[in-house]
Amino acid sequence: ATMPPLLSAIANAGRHGVLVKSAVAMERLGEIDLAALDKTGTLTEGAPEVTGVRPLPDSGLDEDGLLALAASAEHPSEHPLARAIVTAARTRGLRPAPAEDFTATPGRGVTATVEGREVSVGRADADGGATVVAVTWDGKPVGTLTLTDRLRPEAPATTAALTALTGTAPVLLTGDHSGAAARVAEATGLTDVRAGLLPEDKVDAVRALQDRGRKVLFVGDGVNDAPALAAAHSGIAMGRSGSDLALETADAVIVRDELTTVPAVVRLSRAARRLVV
Ligand code: ADP
Ligand code: MG
Repeated sequence: ATMPPLLSAIANAGRHGVLVKSAVAMERLGEIDLAALDKTGTLTEGAPEVTGVRPLPDSGLDEDGLLALAASAEHPSEHPLARAIVTAARTRGLRPAPAEDFTATPGRGVTATVEGREVSVGRADADGGATVVAVTWDGKPVGTLTLTDRLRPEAPATTAALTALTGTAPVLLTGDHSGAAARVAEATGLTDVRAGLLPEDKVDAVRALQDRGRKVLFVGDGVNDAPALAAAHSGIAMGRSGSDLALETADAVIVRDELTTVPAVVRLSRAARRLVV
């Protein structure tokens, strides 16, 4: 028997390294006419490194003290920034102290009680192209950490291919600050950039585009991206850096860690739909 076109497209997508969850999901991928992309873990590798540790002079902490404190609070988190901070602490031979009452707020950061004192690590206003997070101790700022993430080598080719497929350059939606967003936008040829977005702001941005008649493909990886993945006409999650919630919510998951599979799967869907109609 010959396989129906959408099913053979799913099999083909699997060979390209993309798991498409249903025939309906496969079909919707070919209908999109605008892409909206997350930055951290999507256009970038999602494997940041700590490149700066800056205790405030009156904090009573040195670099190692600040890093150890941040790592203690971040230890339970699965966020890429958290993993980078814990790895940096281990590399310096520091051991995170046990954390209690851990809470993570998607798009903002974490808080935990470490040795009886409340520690928070989260977004900070910053200039320049790096990501900067602020550390507080019992509510008092004690310093900042700078983290740098590499652009995926295939990101510029991917945004160019999506522009060619949809006729419009993709929109960049990120929770990071505008400096870090601008650096990635420039490297990938994107001009519509929305930074400092909370998870619900990403949803609002997707909905606003769809209210204007666009069929949006959203590509993301984080817990913070799950609501936008659900709201979009079609949602693709990054398998390697992706959180469980993002993988569950998306219509398709990139299993081979390669961003060019995104335009490839849109093309496969379009070809299959031509055979169906
Ligand atoms: P993006 O939308 O670019 O993938 P996120 O929404 O995951 O980024 O994070 C947005 C910002 O929130 C980060 O740049 C950081 O400042 C802060 N943040 C989120 N989670 C954490 C965390 N675990 N530790 C420190 N900061 C965090
Ligand atoms: Mg992300």
